[in-house]
Amino acid sequence: MTQLSGKNRFPKHPPVVEGSRENERKRSFYDNDETLQLILKEYLNENFYEYADERLRSFGERCANEIDERARFTDREGKPELVKYNQFGEDISEVFVNEGYKQTVEETYNEGIVGYVHKNIPELNEKGNYTYSFAQGYMLSQAEPGFYCPVTLTLATAYLLDHYGDKKVKERFLYNVCSTGEHELFEGATFLTERQGGSDVGANETTAVQEGDTYRIYGEKYFASNVGMAGVAMVLARIEGSEAGSRGLSLFAVPWRQDDGSLNNVSIRRLKDKLGVIAVPSGEVEFNGAKAYLVGDPKKGFYYMMEALNLSRISNAVASVGIMKRAYDEAYEYATRRKAFGNQLTNYPMVQDTLMRMKAKLHVETATIFDLIQLYEKVTNDDNVTEADIILNRLNIAVVKKETADQAIQFAHEAIEMLGGNGYIEDFVTPRLLRDAQVLSVWEGTANILGLEVVRLFNRFDGAELYINQMQERLRGLTNSSMYGQVVDIFEKVKENIYSFMGLAYDEQTFYSKQLSKKINSFYETIVALEWAERHGEKYEALAEIFIEQEWNLREIGDEMMTVKYFDMLTKDR
Ligand SMILES: Cc1cc2nc3c(=O)[nH]c(=O)nc-3n(C[C@H](O)[C@H](O)[C@H](O)COP(=O)(O)OP(=O)(O)OC[C@H]3O[C@@H](n4cnc5c(N)ncnc54)[C@H](O)[C@@H]3O)c2cc1C
Repeated sequence: MTQLSGKNRFPKHPPVVEGSRENERKRSFYDNDETLQLILKEYLNENFYEYADERLRSFGERCANEIDERARFTDREGKPELVKYNQFGEDISEVFVNEGYKQTVEETYNEGIVGYVHKNIPELNEKGNYTYSFAQGYMLSQAEPGFYCPVTLTLATAYLLDHYGDKKVKERFLYNVCSTGEHELFEGATFLTERQGGSDVGANETTAVQEGDTYRIYGEKYFASNVGMAGVAMVLARIEGSEAGSRGLSLFAVPWRQDDGSLNNVSIRRLKDKLGVIAVPSGEVEFNGAKAYLVGDPKKGFYYMMEALNLSRISNAVASVGIMKRAYDEAYEYATRRKAFGNQLTNYPMVQDTLMRMKAKLHVETATIFDLIQLYEKVTNDDNVTEADIILNRLNIAVVKKETADQAIQFAHEAIEMLGGNGYIEDFVTPRLLRDAQVLSVWEGTANILGLEVVRLFNRFDGAELYINQMQERLRGLTNSSMYGQVVDIFEKVKENIYSFMGLAYDEQTFYSKQLSKKINSFYETIVALEWAERHGEKYEALAEIFIEQEWNLREIGDEMMTVKYFDMLTKDR
């Protein structure tokens, strides 16, 4: 491979490692995804579906080909670099990214992954929605989960500006944040974490000093993703004299540059040298009097950010299923090509079992996330939203974020194993999948922090009762299912677990919270699996059966080999 040095190390088109790729163009990630297609058919109106179906087919093809090629290059050879000083020794804190990455950025935002959540799609003359945006994110994450982080941050920034910015702040930033190519794009960022705490945001020390209509920010942020790339960052800071803890935090929109193009009194100390998600530059930032615009009520900064965090947690779950889908596809394709001991891998029962368990979990988890997104759309956009909707939305997000992040790591591991030695080698995507997956259980709230959210929702907001009632109601619609009796028995056990949990002291509850979170999620997914089986028949009944057996650990030695029995049927069309 050609050795390039300096800035030329970032050619416009990344080189291809000989022998590592097939010559033919890969099919769209969308084409082989019946679950996604059925989801969109169900949740989008007819016109929107037609539009989305066509756009996603083409975007999915680019993700499977050029976006994937560029992602591989960025990961291995073209990582972002900090250009701290210019030739005069002045601090310019610029982040250099390769040309291919820039192309991916432009193409993706131009698809409306952020913009069309907040403005009309010209071809339809109607506003897009999160369902469509997350469908794009799901495909993007199959190729470039690192870049889906900046997209997520930009989604969160747009949300905060749109919901809580006053007219002046919106005019100044939202237009650019929602650009789909017609004017300059401002990517977004959310800066909370400081050296003394990421989970404990209330420990933030960064301060804001009022100066006329605006503020000046002083302090540092220790994990700042999309730094140097974002045109505007949403920053939590404490206005001088405000109370301690999270209630004293206010939200600010901080532009990276001033109107004359110079830096807005910000400086990047260094970029982090990370395990994965290489595409996104994550750095440490100093604010030395950066001009800032207050967003919303100064006493509600933390509250606003927690709302945005819920949106980012959904993106996290979407990225997770994206990685799961890619891991499954890679594992399946490899198994259909590889022979061992004179036999195709896919002829071995153990291989069939692994693949079908992956397929069932992937299908159910994808369907569950888009089920959750429908409630999220209601909570964010519908005036008739109830308190119960808000609580259930938070609960769904907490339990699904945790489970999907764990599964992304598990799927990447399974894919590596299916590819054998090759799975461990960087010619294949599998090592990158594992490295990229690992962060999903850390950022946007660790598993422990999500466990604490479940405790909070159960103790303070009747979350337990709301969850049980909702599951009970959905279960009532499934009495015709052949799996109904089995699922009722499972539900009884889940309820018993919840009642026991409610009887515990607080510390004991925190101890068991992740265990309970897993059960709550598993039952939610079980209901979704059954609903799909009811609506879409045979293939989805088989997937539900496999899912339930696996999720609830029901298989005994000597039981029918369900995954083997259904293998041919479930792999017929790919
Ligand atoms: C690549 C990357 C990019 C990031 N980008 C950003 C960004 O753009 N903006 C931003 O604001 N942040 C960002 N973060 C920070 C991230 O959100 C934090 O790392 C995360 O929230 C955890 O905080 P922490 O690192 O301070 O760990 P800590 O909060 O110190 O947690 C350490 C461990 O203690 C556990 N723990 C903490 N509190 C409790 C408790 N009460 N009970 C039980 N266990 C507990 C945690 O679960 C964890 O296992 C990024 C992180 C990474 C890795």
